[in-house]
Amino acid sequence: MKTLNRRDWLKRGTLTAASVVAAPYLSFGANADQPIKLDAQGNVPYTPFFKEYLPYEVDKPVELLAKLNANENPYGPSTKAIEAIAKNGVKGNRYAWRELFDLMDKIAVSEGEGITKENIMMGPGSSDLLEKTAMVFFQKGGNIVSADPAYMSLIKVAEASGATWKPIPLKKDWSHDLAAMEAAIDEDTKLVYICNPNNPTGSMTDHAELLDFCSRVSEKVPIFVDEAYLGFLEDADKKSMVSLVKEGKNVIIARTFSKIHGMAGLRVGYIVAPTETLGVISKITRGGMGISFPSIYAAMASMDDVEFQDKSRTLNKACREYVYESLDKMGFEYIPSSTSFIIFPIEMEGKAFLEKMTEQKVGVRAFDIMGKNWCRVSMGTMEEMKLFTAALEKVLV
Ligand code: PLP
Repeated sequence: MKTLNRRDWLKRGTLTAASVVAAPYLSFGANADQPIKLDAQGNVPYTPFFKEYLPYEVDKPVELLAKLNANENPYGPSTKAIEAIAKNGVKGNRYAWRELFDLMDKIAVSEGEGITKENIMMGPGSSDLLEKTAMVFFQKGGNIVSADPAYMSLIKVAEASGATWKPIPLKKDWSHDLAAMEAAIDEDTKLVYICNPNNPTGSMTDHAELLDFCSRVSEKVPIFVDEAYLGFLEDADKKSMVSLVKEGKNVIIARTFSKIHGMAGLRVGYIVAPTETLGVISKITRGGMGISFPSIYAAMASMDDVEFQDKSRTLNKACREYVYESLDKMGFEYIPSSTSFIIFPIEMEGKAFLEKMTEQKVGVRAFDIMGKNWCRVSMGTMEEMKLFTAALEKVLV
């Protein structure tokens, strides 16, 4: 297995001067009148070391045989969730206030650790809550510390609200550099954002180290831990930061029904946090109002459908193994993934690569990380993964 260690790769690396120098930070933030800054090629420069090649224009219809560009779960929603939607659509004339509490109670029980619904805030997908948290925490500016590369949703809204981003490169094993992140905290730091497992790298940070970090550092500054992909881990590895909430630590944990539950289009997510922290966030925003009546019932039904979640996890793993094997055969290196996607370096400029893959009717994502082009592919069905490997071979091998 040709797995990728960042230090080895950097030694051989192709860190181009252009990528290190000019990339301006995404700065629609401090100045809300300014549109999102793109570079000369129309790509989104997040940091000098992390850039995303924008996929095909989203408003253009593109016919894909394998849509592997958004980390969606191809098996969902569960049949039980679909039945719940059909049954409860008729109640769509009502606000689902009480039903939302039922879902929150159910989630609280499933989280364990003495969590109650007072520790939970719901949202139409976790993006909504990532963004609301950013809007609330950065109303008066300040800075946010996170990994580089990281999942950008919360960070972009923080910047839009006037925050400065302090990106800290991941370590050579692609885990968070917790010591460097702690050192980066200053009196203006309003939030630390950690995505574990991380997107777009798929890599994990050790649970015990992260628990210690969150426990200590949350005494100084709140920590937001995004656990969107936790559901894909085997039970023994499925270790959350939720226990810290019960200890009263100032941590916010985000979860979503979009990934293991396969409900990305149904929009259900939540955060778990101390009641005081949720009080601050919900003072100026409302979470659960954005979730539809049928989606609430779909989420409850899906939680009960453990078989579906197990199936998603098993099939996702089988696809990962297949992609690893195929990449090995074609001579690609990759970062071992704990998620439903795999990222690996490619020898083609990202935009051209996206165009060529789209011509093959396969949708993926492309990034520039540390001056190297990368492809991120989501796990679809096995059939879709075979279309992906065939397309990759055509385009790059
Ligand atoms: N957090 C991470 C790390 C993600 O990768 C995603 C989606 O891809 C989200 C949050 C947002 O998911 P949703 O808004 O669908 O809950």
